Amino acid sequence: MRAIVVGAGIGGLVATLSLRRAGHEVTLVEQMPRFTEGGAGIQLAPNATRVLRRLGVLDAVSAWAVHPSQVCFRTWSDGADICRYLLGRAVEDEFGAPYLLLHRADLHEVLAAVVPTEAVRLNTTIVGIDQDDKTAWVTTASGERLSADLVVAADGIRSAARQWLFGADEALFSKTAAYRTLLPAGKVADLDLPELAVWMGPSRHFVHYWVRCGELLNVVAVFTAEAARESWTARAEPGEQLREFEGWDSRVLSILERAGQVFRYGIYTRAPLARWNVGRVTLLGDSAHAMVPFLAQGAAQAIVDAAVLGDVLTGATPAEVPDALDRYVRTRLATATSVQTGAARAGGEFHLPDGPEALTRNARMAAHAAGNRFMPQAAGWALDAGDEPAES
Ligand SMILES: Cc1cc2nc3c(=O)[nH]c(=O)nc-3n(C[C@H](O)[C@H](O)[C@H](O)COP(=O)(O)OP(=O)(O)OC[C@H]3O[C@@H](n4cnc5c(N)ncnc54)[C@H](O)[C@@H]3O)c2cc1C
Repeated sequence: MRAIVVGAGIGGLVATLSLRRAGHEVTLVEQMPRFTEGGAGIQLAPNATRVLRRLGVLDAVSAWAVHPSQVCFRTWSDGADICRYLLGRAVEDEFGAPYLLLHRADLHEVLAAVVPTEAVRLNTTIVGIDQDDKTAWVTTASGERLSADLVVAADGIRSAARQWLFGADEALFSKTAAYRTLLPAGKVADLDLPELAVWMGPSRHFVHYWVRCGELLNVVAVFTAEAARESWTARAEPGEQLREFEGWDSRVLSILERAGQVFRYGIYTRAPLARWNVGRVTLLGDSAHAMVPFLAQGAAQAIVDAAVLGDVLTGATPAEVPDALDRYVRTRLATATSVQTGAARAGGEFHLPDGPEALTRNARMAAHAAGNRFMPQAAGWALDAGDEPAES
């Protein structure tokens, strides 16, 4: 069959690989003139890396990654360890795939390198999608109409396809924003930073981890905000991040002080949908289920979407596409929706004010970790279909 994938983000690239592995001819259409991914880090949990292994790219991705042995949760004011959850070998043994920390550009480059050039149309904006009972079409900004047996709209949080399929609905501001920055390892060598840490404090949390084989420190500092733009390139005012995190542990402030360019990213989500597909067209990734990043699962969920999509379309004929897309959505929608709500809930937990509730949270986390339990989001990794065949 012939498929068109709209959007060459992580979701669209992995969907392309997964559909090609299922034996289909894929055209990947991207509005940007070249493959791009923001200068930032990404955590990939085993539900995602399992899929990458199946697609034959895990070794190449791993070569760029940091493989953390644990994640450390800390108190905002003095950096006291609340607990350390196991990652590394323990995760690999339990979930059959690693937990990785990456620079997005490295991940993107590995994925893009295995999509044949002739399958990609850059600099091509899709301005419409339509279909009849046999064929789907996308219309490009230059007026061309491309036909296929199915269209996968992986066009991100500001998805136009979502509007064309289900009517207008806006991205929702989460009332949180994040300062994002990357620092060379040498600039923070004296701070003795763990591989991956989450500092929790009132109305804020602070995440840092190493990427690019330990050459760079990725920093995401989340705070509550009345308004902020959803933009990977909006810059923070000089020193703004220090004022926002005033009173935090000196190591947090040192990181923020030494950062070069800091970006300010407004965090938006999409309301869960009752379905993602209509006929021969479906959403995938952020277009279907954009979420707050507090479980580090947005891209992972897009990657699992792509795996399941490949499964349901393996051996399918053009006439079977609408039913296969129904199966894809039935397999994925409940899990992705529960991760969306779980991520929002995690924000509430991270941002508790000092007091009895925060102490109870800390005691609960410490008890879990002491019992060698995985961090709570591991329940979500196990839910994903990943390697399993989709329901039939
Ligand atoms: C601060 C932050 C930290 C995060 N950390 C993590 C993490 O650690 N782990 C994790 O799993 N997830 C994380 N996420 C979530 C993750 O970044 C997203 O869920 C994921 O990148 C979404 O991928 P996508 O392919 O669905 O969309 P996108 O990456 O947005 O890609 C959409 C693509 O479609 C293209 N496009 C759009 N419209 C058109 C059109 N009309 N025609 C042609 N092309 C079009 C765009 O140019 C773009 O290339 C984080 C998110 C944020 C904000």
